[in-house]
Amino acid sequence: MGRAFVYVILGGGVSAGYAALEFARRGGYSRGELCIISEEAVAPYERPALSKGYLLPEGAARLPGFHTCVGANDELLTPKWYKEQGIELILGTKVISADVRRKALVTAVGETISYKTLIIATGARALKLEEFGIQGSDAENICYLRNIHDADKLVNAMKSCSGGNAVVIGGGYIGMECAAALVTNKIRVTMVFPEKHCMARLFTPRIAEYYENYYTLKGVTFVKGTVLTSFEKDATGKVTAVILKDGKRLPADMVVVGIGIRANTSLFEGQLVVSMVNDGIKVNGQMQTSESSVYAVGDVAAFPIKLFDGDVRRLEHVDSARRTARHAVSAILEPAKTRHINDLPFFYSRVFTLSWQFYGDNVGEVVHFGEFTNSSPRFGAYWVNKGRITGAFLEGGSREEYEAISVAVGRKTKVTEMAELGKQGLAFAVQESQKQMSDSGLAIGERPTYVWHATAAVVAAVSIAAVGYWYGRKRRRW
Ligand SMILES: Cc1cc2nc3c(=O)[nH]c(=O)nc-3n(C[C@H](O)[C@H](O)[C@H](O)COP(=O)(O)OP(=O)(O)OC[C@H]3O[C@@H](n4cnc5c(N)ncnc54)[C@H](O)[C@@H]3O)c2cc1C
Repeated sequence: MGRAFVYVILGGGVSAGYAALEFARRGGYSRGELCIISEEAVAPYERPALSKGYLLPEGAARLPGFHTCVGANDELLTPKWYKEQGIELILGTKVISADVRRKALVTAVGETISYKTLIIATGARALKLEEFGIQGSDAENICYLRNIHDADKLVNAMKSCSGGNAVVIGGGYIGMECAAALVTNKIRVTMVFPEKHCMARLFTPRIAEYYENYYTLKGVTFVKGTVLTSFEKDATGKVTAVILKDGKRLPADMVVVGIGIRANTSLFEGQLVVSMVNDGIKVNGQMQTSESSVYAVGDVAAFPIKLFDGDVRRLEHVDSARRTARHAVSAILEPAKTRHINDLPFFYSRVFTLSWQFYGDNVGEVVHFGEFTNSSPRFGAYWVNKGRITGAFLEGGSREEYEAISVAVGRKTKVTEMAELGKQGLAFAVQESQKQMSDSGLAIGERPTYVWHATAAVVAAVSIAAVGYWYGRKRRRW
């Protein structure tokens, strides 16, 4: 039993949706030549909505409202769209083995699907507590959040827990966004993580302190510098308490676990070159793997980032998934015209009425700026390495301000006086970006890619927000 396609996209997440739209726009296939194979039962959707609009107590986002590519303010690709475009959606189908030499995939029901060109878009999976030696995370009130199935379980758990206690394990973006959603659903939250502060991979202690204080005012309790060791359960197997390493016992009506992700590379181990540092499938600037007929995009791909002098990184961000997907399709259909991907790493989050964006890399000396106040927060930080801006973070900015910091990072703006940078704060990026635009003689409509990138990012954030009603509707800026 088998089927053959010219192009196969393996995985049905964010990058699969954006790759499909790019194929359709370029008209690079005939009907029936392109398919998407996905373990999920639904067509590609904007995954970030799962920890935001999807968890709202009222007016929550639901499919089909947030299928790709609404996050980039583009077409809504419903199953009907795929049908009209002649793209086959093979849903609810897990691929269990791959043979890149024979150009064939085998599904869990034993079907062989062959291809001429494969795009690996398998993303990542949530790390499980079992991988850290803690048993029992299959209990009905322990929730992870990677796909819509997880999100439904989380929504159901929240419904049966109103007024109760939740323990959130992990202080990364899933933990932070879920904690905000739990509070909004009138659930008391305790966050537990081993680091000294939340979002330890990105936030400086000062930035983290702001968000932790904000969350504390919303009723969240932080238990830092420790980990959980076990659960107490009732006769039905439901968790009733979380036991920490220091012996503390936290009563729990539900638990949310966000302890990181692992790229889904296993089908290709031993067949494609895997980046040792980042644990992703290694690709070149055209998103092509060590096997010329195979491309990799999104969370699973480790690609060279021009801005970081070609350093190979695996980014776990939605913007990167969209851009790498489009780039791979361009490289497949028009290889001669497709240059090395020029990606400016970008990440955003929205919790309660807060909203931040980060560009670049958080390496080097940090300079903070702005108002770290609760009434009208507008603050951020620059990271300066070897005299140049390598990263910038901004909370509460306007579209122009986000554009300005993206320009400052994208251009690796030179910093002569660190003290002056601190004094000028956001004005430094705004002035520099205006100067650089006028120096390069650019008029409106001729902005460099990273400015469009920042603008698109703002649009994306707003669009995702718009699929449900939004925590910050009282404060919508754009
Ligand atoms: C809850 C949540 C909130 C997020 N919020 C943000 C945010 O605010 N900002 C941000 O920048 N990023 C955010 N992200 C990250 C962003 O969603 C990811 O970077 C993006 O989804 C990556 O896209 P992808 O296509 O590479 O992988 P995914 O979207 O994960 O898609 C992978 C697909 O492959 C399928 N698959 C995997 N293995 C197989 C197999 N063997 N057979 C068949 N199918 C398979 C999966 O089922 C899935 O459909 C968030 C992620 C999550 C989970």
